[in-house]
Amino acid sequence: MMDGETRFGPARRRASVAVAVGPVSIGGGAPVVVQSMTNTDTADVAATARQVAELARAGSELVRITVNDADAAAAVPHIRERLDSAGITVPLVGDFHFNGHRLLARHPACAGALAKLRINPGNIGRGAKRDDQFATLIEFACRYGRPVRIGVNWGSLDQELLARMMDENARSPAPLAAALVTRRALVASALESARQAEALGLGRERIVLSCKVSGVQDLVAVYRDLAARCDYALHLGLTEAGMGSKGIVASAAALAVLLQEGIGDTIRVSLTPEPGGDRAREVIVAQELLQTMGLRSFAPLVIACPGCGRTTSTFFQELADRIQGYLRAQMPVWRERHPGVENMHVAVMGCVVNGPGESKQANIGISLPGSGESPVAPVYVDGVKTVTLKGENIAAEFQAIVEQYVASRYPGRADAAAESTLAGAARR
Ligand code: SF4
Repeated sequence: MMDGETRFGPARRRASVAVAVGPVSIGGGAPVVVQSMTNTDTADVAATARQVAELARAGSELVRITVNDADAAAAVPHIRERLDSAGITVPLVGDFHFNGHRLLARHPACAGALAKLRINPGNIGRGAKRDDQFATLIEFACRYGRPVRIGVNWGSLDQELLARMMDENARSPAPLAAALVTRRALVASALESARQAEALGLGRERIVLSCKVSGVQDLVAVYRDLAARCDYALHLGLTEAGMGSKGIVASAAALAVLLQEGIGDTIRVSLTPEPGGDRAREVIVAQELLQTMGLRSFAPLVIACPGCGRTTSTFFQELADRIQGYLRAQMPVWRERHPGVENMHVAVMGCVVNGPGESKQANIGISLPGSGESPVAPVYVDGVKTVTLKGENIAAEFQAIVEQYVASRYPGRADAAAESTLAGAARR
């Protein structure tokens, strides 16, 4: 895979209205935005600012925090200040339920510190109260010039709307299955809330919609319907995706189908972390999903074979792991210094059966010796075999080759200018 080459991707992105969230654009043809959410107590300013910073450093382009009570609302401006003083500019999104209208009224600085509000129409009261509270939240968004995600969720769907649609369905001569009516109610809730928000003065360029469910097929069906019926920017995510591989596979399965159809302007992968696990994993998974689909590039890709009976030692896995960790750890610096490096492909292969072939396709590739093979590791750079490593220091030497390659292949503007000056001086 050569740099800049496009892998199979959606033939056409769904047209959507662009929404500006601080400096980040969602929809309108902008690259699909990766976002995440903290799981700290928002009232704990230090812990929340720390986790937001970790998520932002991992590559989250928006970070959502829950604003669930007065202490949380009071903490939001201080979280923003801490982040700003640390040079972390990632926009914050406030997640409001039940009492958002009161919290924003009593803590105006909270609204000022947030770049976007998330409102769940199923969780802001019932009947006329619901309409008043929804209107209050939208008025805050209008007053502060903030976009709003109207985020409908399967688990907290507007029960009055659902009951009404179920009754209508029951009276129909050919009633639909209850699951289908529920899907339609999700979409109706999002669209009706968006219509109300527009009627209250919130422009389409300030509205993002989501309709999250926990089943893969349900999510695909709901978003296809939603995408066909509006041009609002869409936030994709499988809610309650779960832990570990199940959460990753379910999210990837659902989101990949939709992204491949051009549906989705921003994504969140809602993973349940293992106890003591890294919250930033959901960011890495979202990035890897977009990158492996050829939609965006975030960090160099490591192509590693699965190993088999030919890889009887753990050296091969250790090298693949070391290189992957090293490449990701370098990205905060490389992103600035070596633009384009995120497109690099590095192959780490377990033996010479497929190793050289895969290595030639990558920017850099190494084939480690399999069982019974001579203890040498051929290295290919841009398709050409350049060196054969052997001995105890294969890992360190290969890492040094990667470093040198990055410096020369992705020199960056400052380095390129310096090289050009030196070349000019040499000619003179
Ligand atoms: S490249 Fe070699 S070690 Fe890796 S899976 Fe294939 S045969 Fe096995």
